Amino acid sequence: MNGWNGRILKIDLSSGQATPQSYDAGLAMHLIGGRGFAAKILWDQATAGLDPFSPESVLVFATGPLTGFPLPSSGKIVVAAKSPLTGGYGDGILGTFASVHLRKAGFDVVVVKGRAERPSLVRIDDDRVDILPAEDLWGLGTFETENKLKESYGRDVGSLMIGPAGENLVHYATVASMEGRSGGRPGIGAVMGSKRLKALVVHGTRDLPVAYPKELRALGTGAFRELLAKPGYESWKRLGTMASVDWAQNSGVLPTLNFREGVFDEAENINGATMETMKNQLRGCPNCNILCGNVVNDAEGQRSELDYENVAMLGSNIGLGHLKEVAVLNRIADDFGLDAISLGNAIGFAMECSEKKLIEERIEWSDLHSARTVAEDIVRGEGVGRLLAHGTRFAAEKIGGGSRKWAMHVKGLEISAYDCHSLPGMALAYGTSPIGAHHKDAWMIGWEISSGTDSYGVEKVEKLLELQRIRSMFECFSVCRFPWIQLGLQFDWYLRFFRAATGVERNLEDFHIVSDRVYSLIRSFWVREYGSGWSRKLDQPPARWFEEPTTRGPLKGGVLKREGYEQMLDWYYEKRGWTSQGVPKRRTLEKLDLSYVTEAIPANLLD
Ligand code: SF4
Repeated sequence: MNGWNGRILKIDLSSGQATPQSYDAGLAMHLIGGRGFAAKILWDQATAGLDPFSPESVLVFATGPLTGFPLPSSGKIVVAAKSPLTGGYGDGILGTFASVHLRKAGFDVVVVKGRAERPSLVRIDDDRVDILPAEDLWGLGTFETENKLKESYGRDVGSLMIGPAGENLVHYATVASMEGRSGGRPGIGAVMGSKRLKALVVHGTRDLPVAYPKELRALGTGAFRELLAKPGYESWKRLGTMASVDWAQNSGVLPTLNFREGVFDEAENINGATMETMKNQLRGCPNCNILCGNVVNDAEGQRSELDYENVAMLGSNIGLGHLKEVAVLNRIADDFGLDAISLGNAIGFAMECSEKKLIEERIEWSDLHSARTVAEDIVRGEGVGRLLAHGTRFAAEKIGGGSRKWAMHVKGLEISAYDCHSLPGMALAYGTSPIGAHHKDAWMIGWEISSGTDSYGVEKVEKLLELQRIRSMFECFSVCRFPWIQLGLQFDWYLRFFRAATGVERNLEDFHIVSDRVYSLIRSFWVREYGSGWSRKLDQPPARWFEEPTTRGPLKGGVLKREGYEQMLDWYYEKRGWTSQGVPKRRTLEKLDLSYVTEAIPANLLD
C-alpha cells in the first residue's frame, strides 16, 4: 500500500506483549485513517458498558495517510478511547513529532490495552518496542516529563505524555506533547493514566510509502508557498487564534461569567493586541509554516502558550481580565495535562455555585487565587475539586440547587468558547458534535453571524452538515485544518495530496461518504453505550441558553427558542438518515457499509 504503512502496533500492558498487525487496503479506503480508524477499532474492541478505566478498555493513537509527509501542517495524531467524561466516543487531535516518528517507524496506529503493574512508558524505535519502568516520571508535570524524556532518549524523538491530571484520572485529562500541544478533551489522558502509561516515546527512520514521490514533493512545495502568499498570512502569524477575542467580543459571543453573557468589560485586556505586547516566542507543530502557538511570560515569569479557546475560558468566562494571570492558569492546565476548556467551565461553574451559596467554599469571580486553588483541588481530588474532576454534569447532579441549568455541557463534555444564546446553528453544532460540545467539527459561528443570528432556517442545518463532512476529513487524514479554514488553502489541494501519497483518485463526494460513514459509526457507538437511556434529549445544549436571555451587548435579549431548535434537529436527523431519536436508520447503515453495527443497537431504537 502507498500512503499507509498498513501496520497497527498492538500493545498489551498487562502481559507486556507488543504485536504488529497488518491491515488491508479495504479498511484504509473504508475509513481513511485517524478518527476513522479509531472509531472502527473502538467499535470492534470496546464492548458496551465497559468501564473506560478497566484494563480491557482500548486506547488508540491513530495517524492518517497524509501524516508526516512534507505537506502543510501534517504532524498530527488522533488520540481516542471510550470517554470517562461522557460515557461515549471520545477523541482529540494534537500536533506532535510522535506522529511523524510513528509513521517513520512503520506504523500508522498504536492500540493499547491492559494495565501495567507499575508506572511505565512505551518506547518504539522502528521495529523495536520496549515497555520500560517510569516510576521516576510519575507525578511530574508534562513539561518536566518531556525534558527528562529528551535527556534519556535524545532530542530527536517524539513523545506523548500525561501529567498529574491523567495519573489521578481527572475525567478531562488530556494527552500532551511539545510543551503546549494537547488533545483528547474527553479524558483520553485519564484512560492513559488508568493504564499506568506515562508516556509514549517514538523514533522512526524509514521512508514513508508514497505512490508519486516527485509529485508529492512538488505539491508540498507549492502549497507551502501558496500559504506564505495568502493575504491573511501576516496577521495569522502575528495573532493566530487570539484574533478571535476581539471578534467574539464585537459579535457578542465571548463567553462571560459561565456563559451568562457574550460581552466582557475587560476584553481588551485579554485580546490579541495585548498578547502581542507580551509575546516572546512563536511555536507550532511539525511540518507547519503557519505557526500559531503564541508564547508569553505569565504573571509568575513562566512561559505559557496562548490560544483563543483557553484565554476565553480561563479569562472572560471566569471574569479574569488580566492576560498574564490568565496565562498562569493556562500554563498550569498544560503542565497538569488538564483540558483548559473544561477547566474554565469547571471553575466558572464553581464560582457560580459559590455565589449562589450551593457549596461551602468561597470561590470569587475574577480572582486568580480562587481559580488556581480550584484547578489544584481538581487534580488533587480535594474539596469541591473532587466533584469537579468528574466534569460539570456530574458535579451539578451532586450539588443540585438548580445548578443543572448552568452546567454548560452537551453529553457531559463542556462547551468550548462560543456563547450561543442567539446562535441556534452553532448550538446545533455543539448538540450534534461526535464527542460532546466541541467546535472542531463545525465552526458554524462565523458563517452564522454573517448570515443571520436568531433564525432557525433549514439552510443552517445544510451548512452544518457541509462543515461536519469536510472537517471530519482532516481528522481522518490526521492533519491540521487551519491552512484550509484560516488561510483558505482550497480542499482541492488535499485531493491532490491524497492521490500523490496513495495513488488513489478520490473526489470530494467520495470523502463526504467516508465522513458520513464515520459519523454514523460514532453515533452508533454512543447509542450502543447508552442503550435504552439514549434519546434526542442528549443532543440538547444547556438550559441556560433557552431560559436566561443575555442582558448586554449587540445580542442583548438573545435566547434560544426550544421549538426552533427541535425543528432544526429534526431536519438534521432527516438529512443524515437518522431516526427522530437521532439513531442511524438500518437503511442508512446499509448504504454506508455499516450493516455490522445493527446487531448492537437496541431493536426499539432501530428503524
Ligand atoms: Fe499546529 Fe497551529 Fe500549525 Fe495547526 S496551524 S499545525 S495548530 S501550529
